[in-house]
Amino acid sequence: MVIVMAPEATPDNIDNLVDLVATAGGEAYVTRGVSRTIIGLVGDVQQFETLDLRAMPGVSDVLRISAPYKLVSRENQPSRSMVSVRGVPIGADTMTVIAGPCAVETPDQTLAAARMARAAGAALLRGGAYKPRTSPYAFQGLGEAGLKILSDVRDETGLPVVTEVVDAADVELVAGYADMLQIGTRNMQNFALLQAAGEAGKPVLLKRGMNATIEEWLMAAEYIAQRGNLDIVLCERGIRTFEKATRNTLDISAVPVAQNLSHLPVIVDPSHSGGKRDLVLPLSRAAIAVGADGIIVDVHPTPETALCDGPQALVEEDIAALADLASTLSGLTGRVLTPAPQPLPA
Ligand code: PEP
Ligand code: MN
Repeated sequence: MVIVMAPEATPDNIDNLVDLVATAGGEAYVTRGVSRTIIGLVGDVQQFETLDLRAMPGVSDVLRISAPYKLVSRENQPSRSMVSVRGVPIGADTMTVIAGPCAVETPDQTLAAARMARAAGAALLRGGAYKPRTSPYAFQGLGEAGLKILSDVRDETGLPVVTEVVDAADVELVAGYADMLQIGTRNMQNFALLQAAGEAGKPVLLKRGMNATIEEWLMAAEYIAQRGNLDIVLCERGIRTFEKATRNTLDISAVPVAQNLSHLPVIVDPSHSGGKRDLVLPLSRAAIAVGADGIIVDVHPTPETALCDGPQALVEEDIAALADLASTLSGLTGRVLTPAPQPLPA
């Protein structure tokens, strides 16, 4: 059950409700959004129904939500959300391209990749400073030095930064540099990390766990939302199947399924799903055609020297084709390609 507070509700109104719910043996989780506060109730719905919550001061509505995820469900909010990343929208009316290197390696490589991203029609820059690698001997990322490079490249190109955080202990540091925190497939059920990201005050890009059902993915999003952050974008990045011809199997049907179950925007990562350069453009077409709200694509100026995921990075020769397909297909699906912000004057 969810209580939607009226915009004019006072902190006392909210405290009274939390206390009242406790008297019925329940727990109340308060989410203070920009325009309204939502209180998620966990406990015995029949007990809650005896409380006459609708009549309490400050209450605008009380919703019975049957989905296990409440705050992120469309039962809670029927209209689809728009998430703003430093002014760049990701949502139902737009097509937002995020592009950049898998990993931040050097200032020159990151700047070159960001310029490729801009030329490809991207409005946001991706790039990992903390890399969750299968092998402990593989490049683990530059850490804070990488975050500084991303922030310099943002100043130079105007592209807000999406970057991964792999540990709850690093969330504050990463949020100090990033415009959007990425939680990767391997960490989708790192609940301490989800909760810390929910408190960081930055939008979150939540990748689907490679072994996760859609319901588990939405429950992971609920962990973030429940800590007061509803600025969440879901990312389908491929799941593990028996198929070996691709790195992962892009579950394209997850896009409309997740959009029907949740109001959150859903984007697709054609790079980590296919795992091969020549699959990225076809899978991007499929993503836009199926109704994704954006795509996130790896690009690299010299993938043969890349420290991470070179084989799936688009190269200079692919950029015009990506720009063309993003703008043409966005129009055909009734969306506006999100323009890149201008760099701040030096
Ligand atoms: C990434 O985007 O760099 C990444 C590691 O992705 P995933 O978590 O989907 O593997
Ligand atoms: Mn990668």
